[in-house]
Amino acid sequence: MRRLMTILAPLIVLLVAWALASKSEFYGDAVQSLIKVVPYIIALLALFMSIWYQNSNSFYLVCFILVTYIFIVVSQKSLPMLTEVVTMVSILLPVNALWLGFSKERGILSSYGRKKALVISVQLIWIFVNMMSKSGIPANAGMDERFVGIKIPAVVVYIISVGLLLSCYILKNINMNIIYVAVLITSVLSLYFANRILLVSIFTSAIFVIVVIALFDVSYSLAFYDTLTGVYSRRALEQELLKLGNKKYAIAMVDLDHFKHINDTYGHDVGDEVLKMVASVLAKYSGPGKVFRYGGEEFVVLFSRTNYNDIMPLLERMRRAIERRPFILRADNRPPEKPDKHKMMSSKGKGKINITVSIGLAQKTDMLKTCFDVIRKADEALYKSKNGGRNCVTKI
Ligand code: GH3
Ligand code: MG
Ligand code: MG
Repeated sequence: MRRLMTILAPLIVLLVAWALASKSEFYGDAVQSLIKVVPYIIALLALFMSIWYQNSNSFYLVCFILVTYIFIVVSQKSLPMLTEVVTMVSILLPVNALWLGFSKERGILSSYGRKKALVISVQLIWIFVNMMSKSGIPANAGMDERFVGIKIPAVVVYIISVGLLLSCYILKNINMNIIYVAVLITSVLSLYFANRILLVSIFTSAIFVIVVIALFDVSYSLAFYDTLTGVYSRRALEQELLKLGNKKYAIAMVDLDHFKHINDTYGHDVGDEVLKMVASVLAKYSGPGKVFRYGGEEFVVLFSRTNYNDIMPLLERMRRAIERRPFILRADNRPPEKPDKHKMMSSKGKGKINITVSIGLAQKTDMLKTCFDVIRKADEALYKSKNGGRNCVTKI
């Protein structure tokens, strides 16, 4: 659903922009003047949000697009200047989108961020110098000729950039990549119609709206998703529980067995990888349940509209799925000494750690009035599982 929204939102923005652009010749002077200032307003919002979330990639991309929009505005009266700007931007923009789309996020003003600022500034100065070098040519030279800004090399760079970003989005599910694709597609329209400033304003505004939506999405993810495992965060659980009120629901507490020993034997990084693996199995086998990271190596699965009797077989399947899926160690993660087999309850074979979880289940009843009561009961059930030898499910 969320993946669908990340594609749908930019698509809707693009369609709205297209609809507005197709009616552009019917707008009165006041509306036209307004449309020309909209890109600045939305760009400022996008820059403010980028600073707020310390997102240097969106910050520098917006800076580049905003300054080049200004170049396009000032070169409207001279076709040679406009052609020069559009030719350069149509090559540099997809290159920048590709570079920023894959570059690590390390803040706007950090030394890493300052290097990005330098690269973008040099490009902008280069475009400006080239643009000004064409200013000597008669202002209206060829203004009524057919305007061609995007040339063959730019088309090739665009196709490569969109292809790489798109394949990475499909393979690695990095949401920001689809945003860069949307920005590039919209920028093609903006550059194609660069001699019609109203259309440039509309499509440039659309680009900034897409970036603003992406930044809202980032802030939502930070609040409601666990950054390590990708499942819902504890804050999301608290909000979900508030919504449930007096409705029937059930809570399963899932705790990794002997996890401290995994950390002690293989290191914290391997521990983190194990947590990610377990979270992905939980999410895959949770059926109608929603998986949250409760804290540390504990997860909660919340069932809000499921028959209580159907939950136990589901949890049993989940427990077995984790038990059967060994965590494969990479060579550089192997411990220098062989782990103690008795303490490491399930370390079998070479380079594998067998993980197990204990689960406790409780449901909302008339006796258990608040969600805290239900969680406490699920915790009690979990400790029964632990005392019963671990790697099992107990319900109360
Ligand atoms: P039990 O079977 O009784 O649950 O034993 P346990 O070792 O799993 O439980 P314990 O509560 O003693 O240890 C939990 C460990 O989880 C301790 C802590 O270092 C580790 N841990 C908590 N959060 C993280 C994390 O985000 N990453 C890693 N790698 N370890 C974590
Ligand atoms: Mg624990
Ligand atoms: Mg544990």
